[in-house]
Amino acid sequence: QGLSVPELAQKLAVNDAEIIKTLFMKGIVTTVNQTLDEETIKLVCQEFNVEVLTSGSVKVEDMVKKTEILDEEDLESLETRPPVVTIMGHVDHGKTSLLDFIRKSKVAASEAGGITQGIGAYKVSVMVDGAKQSCVFLDTPGHEAFTAMRARGAQVTDVAVIVVAADDGVKPQTQEAIAHARAASVPIVVAINKIDKEGAERERVMQELSGIGLMPEDWGGDVPMIPVSALKGENVDSLLETIMLVAEFQELKANPNRSAKGTVIESCLDKTKGVLATLLVQNGTLRKGDVVLCGEAYGKIRALLDDTGTRVETAGPSTAVQVFGLSSVPIAGEMFEVLDSLEAAREQAEICAETSRLARLAAQAAEGKVTLASFTSSIAEGSDGGVERHQLNVIIKADVQGSLEAVREALKTLPQDTVNLRVLLQAAGDVTISDVDLAIASEGIIIGFNVSSSSAVQTYAESKGVEIRLYRIIYELIDDIRNAMEGLLEVIQ
Ligand code: GDP
Repeated sequence: QGLSVPELAQKLAVNDAEIIKTLFMKGIVTTVNQTLDEETIKLVCQEFNVEVLTSGSVKVEDMVKKTEILDEEDLESLETRPPVVTIMGHVDHGKTSLLDFIRKSKVAASEAGGITQGIGAYKVSVMVDGAKQSCVFLDTPGHEAFTAMRARGAQVTDVAVIVVAADDGVKPQTQEAIAHARAASVPIVVAINKIDKEGAERERVMQELSGIGLMPEDWGGDVPMIPVSALKGENVDSLLETIMLVAEFQELKANPNRSAKGTVIESCLDKTKGVLATLLVQNGTLRKGDVVLCGEAYGKIRALLDDTGTRVETAGPSTAVQVFGLSSVPIAGEMFEVLDSLEAAREQAEICAETSRLARLAAQAAEGKVTLASFTSSIAEGSDGGVERHQLNVIIKADVQGSLEAVREALKTLPQDTVNLRVLLQAAGDVTISDVDLAIASEGIIIGFNVSSSSAVQTYAESKGVEIRLYRIIYELIDDIRNAMEGLLEVIQ
């Protein structure tokens, strides 16, 4: 029976737009509301390195990151790399406290005096069997960041730590976090937190987790569950050791002797420094002076800063560095790679930008979104000899009942021989979310007279492709509608 775009997106833990774009690249124009058949689902899954077992049942292979990040040429020169860890869990269960404790107690105090600035990820040292090893923590707890990464097809996490407060137990976000980790085939380590608190019930948490399919190692299952107190730092060492053991089992490797490849972890525009981006190198080594391409952004890397704020010349596998020198702010979760020349990078960046734009337009067009502009052009196209009658659905909002009547009366005077103007709703008051919903359902547009719409409503309307036209002068409103009905409205983008 297939799956809708949002359903497939959810299964693959990517966003809708990514699916539409992927199909567009293959010459298939899709909209969010469309149902995809099995063939099409397979096509998408191939792109995301996911295997389709049976219709509608999509299983994520754990080969995803290996095939994406390592090339065949690397196989000869692989070396062990540190694991990258994400901490997830329900709000207030202690994610931030755990990250803080680990950061404060485990970051090797360098000459620069430890961490001076957050760059979105930091490396810590862990003693395992008397040997020093390292481990990278992503600094944004919660599965939103994790999902945002995955939404771009990026797979950065090697181990997911799910924090569950022992006095509160499994909550909705705990379950969501577990679902996300599973969808990405990332091994889970549970931190049963707040064991110092009265009312902490470790056994109950284990019971609840086993109830949703996470069987504790202590009970013969395969999920390590470590009781900790993030507040006091109790047993955090044992948690870190367990993370390292789980990572070791995965045999994480990369080839440091090649040009860098990886994922954008964070990015922003700094008023004085320009574009800043934190890149997590997942394979190869990034060097100062390298030309980097990440989606629509590109540039020559002018400087690299590590998690202690120290300038460095290179960054090897599993190292996060903040870089300067990109042309625009890249999206978190976007993959980056090093190219030979600035010219080649610019070309690729332009192609990427153009493809995204075309995919967006195609999806909009296929969805049949109605705007005055699209309406007027459809009339203009059909005007030569077509006897087809068009219908323009409108929702009218005005400040007071009186002006509502005035607008309604003025619209009635418009000639309706080719276009039938249908007023779905007329009401006093600002444009609301439910107006937008009505417009979506009926493919209508919203006309506001002497009213406004909040930015939340605007954003919602934009995301759904609903046009809201606001007027202060009645004859401008009438002119626009008349022109649209006559196929004459100037198409303004
Ligand atoms: P987050 O929302 O998951 O990031 O949770 P926080 O780290 O902000 O913690 C929420 C609250 O729980 C804070 O008031 C913490 O001080 C408290 N907390 C976190 N870990 C522990 C713990 O191990 N023991 C106790 N008693 N309180 C904790």
